Amino acid sequence: MAQDIQFAWSLYHGYENYKDKHLSNRRFKYSTILPLIHHLKNKNMFTVKKAGESAEGRDVYLISIGSGDKKIFCWSQMHGDEPTATASLFDIFNFFLTENHYTEFKQFLLDKTTIYFMPMVNPDGAELFQRRNILEINLNRDAVQKQSPEAKILYSAFDEIKPHFGFNLHDQERAYAAGLNGKSAAISFLAPPFDYAKTKNEIRTNSMKLISEQYNLLSEFIPGHIAKYQDDYEPRAFGDTFAKSGSSIVLIESGGWSDDREKEYLRKINFISLLTSFKSIAEGSYLTEKIETYESIPNNEKLMMDFIIRNITASKFQTKYVIDIGINYEEENINKNLNFFFKAKIEDIGDLSVYSGYKELDATGLTLVLGKTYETVFNSINEIKCVEPLSLLQKGITNLKLSDKDTEDKYSPVLFNIILNNEERKEELKEEAVPNFILCDGRKFKYAVINGFLIKASSVGRKVGNALIFK
Ligand SMILES: [Zn+2]
Repeated sequence: MAQDIQFAWSLYHGYENYKDKHLSNRRFKYSTILPLIHHLKNKNMFTVKKAGESAEGRDVYLISIGSGDKKIFCWSQMHGDEPTATASLFDIFNFFLTENHYTEFKQFLLDKTTIYFMPMVNPDGAELFQRRNILEINLNRDAVQKQSPEAKILYSAFDEIKPHFGFNLHDQERAYAAGLNGKSAAISFLAPPFDYAKTKNEIRTNSMKLISEQYNLLSEFIPGHIAKYQDDYEPRAFGDTFAKSGSSIVLIESGGWSDDREKEYLRKINFISLLTSFKSIAEGSYLTEKIETYESIPNNEKLMMDFIIRNITASKFQTKYVIDIGINYEEENINKNLNFFFKAKIEDIGDLSVYSGYKELDATGLTLVLGKTYETVFNSINEIKCVEPLSLLQKGITNLKLSDKDTEDKYSPVLFNIILNNEERKEELKEEAVPNFILCDGRKFKYAVINGFLIKASSVGRKVGNALIFK
C-alpha cells in the first residue's frame, strides 16, 4: 500500500505535464476532442477505430492500448453534460505519449492489460451540454432496448471486448455529501448490482475490492469527500447490465468540490484514480482488499447546497422568526456557444442544520428585507452604470427598470437585476423564488443578496455581479 500511495502522489505532482490544455473548460465539444483523437491515430501505441455514429452523424471512437490478457474498458460522458472524466481520458493518453520516468511502468501495464477507451459516448448531447442524447433518450436507461445509436455503439463495443473490468464514468450533482460529515461527495463509487437481491458474487466482489483500494488511495487527496453511490438495481442502466454479463464494473461519479465549478481538481483525481486502478488490475493487488472497506464508505446523501445563510431574522404578519435560507445556483445555457449564467433559487427555508453549504454566512442579528424595485426608469445600460450602487442598496433596491425592450442580453451586465417593459415585480421569500433581499443590522445595510449572490457593503462596486434580466 505504501508504494501505491507513493505512486499516486507522484502522479499527483506530475499531473500538469499531462493535462490536456485543449480542454480548458467543462463545455468543450466534440469538435475539440476530434483532432485530439486523430492525433492518436498517428501514434503506434494506440489503435483508433470508429465504433459507430451518433444520431446526428458524429463518429464515436474506440481507442485501445496494450496487448495484455486483462481487458479494461473505460467509457465516459454518456450523459452529455458530464464531461469531467472525458477530459481525464485525454490526460491519460498524454501520460502514455509523453516521455517520462514511467517507461517501465507503462511497459508493464501494456504487457499485462489491454485498455479500451470510449470518450464522449454522447457527442450530440455534449454539443448542447445536455444530459440526454438528441433523441431525448437517457442513454443510461437504454441498455436493454438500445433504441439510440449511442446505446447500440456502447453495447456492441462492450460485447466485443468482454472486459474483465469496466469503468463507467459520470458526473453527479453538487448536492451530494459524503455521508453526514458535511463534506461534499467529490467522488462517489459504486460496484453496481446485477439483480434486485444485490447478490455479491466473485465478479461484483472484485469491483468492491478495487473500490476499497481506491478509497484508501484517494483519501490521500480528498479525505472525507468519498462516498458510495446508491446501489438500487436498475435493469435498464449500462453498469448494471454489464455487471450481469460477467464484468466487474466500477462506477465513478465526479461530484462537487468547493470553489471549483469547472471541476479541474476532480479531473485530476479521475486521472489518478484510473491510472492507479489500471496498475492494481495489472498486479492483482486489489484481490487482497476487504469488501468491508467498501461497505464502510459513507453513502451519498443529498445534503449540500451552494450557499446557506444561517440565523436570519425575518418578519411577516408582525411575527418575527429566525430561519436559514438555502440557495442553489442553476446553470442556464445562453446559446449554442455554450456560454451560461447562473440563475439562483431558494432551495429551502427554515432549520437547515442538517445541510452544509459550499459557502455559508452567519447572519445572526441581521434582518431580512425583501428587495425593492427603483421607481426611475433608465433609458440605457450606460445610464445605469453612472449610478452609485451603494446609495441604491442602502435604500433596499435590488431591481432597476430599463426602457430598452430590445436587449439581447440574457443576464444583467450590472450589479442589479433589470426589469424590462416596466413590469411590476414583487420579491418573495419562498421555495423556488429568486433570492433578492437585503440584510440589515438595525437599519444599517450590511449585505445584499441579488440573484442569490452575496454583495458586502464594504466591497460594493468592485464586481459586476451575477444579476438577472426579468422580461
Ligand atoms: Zn451520468
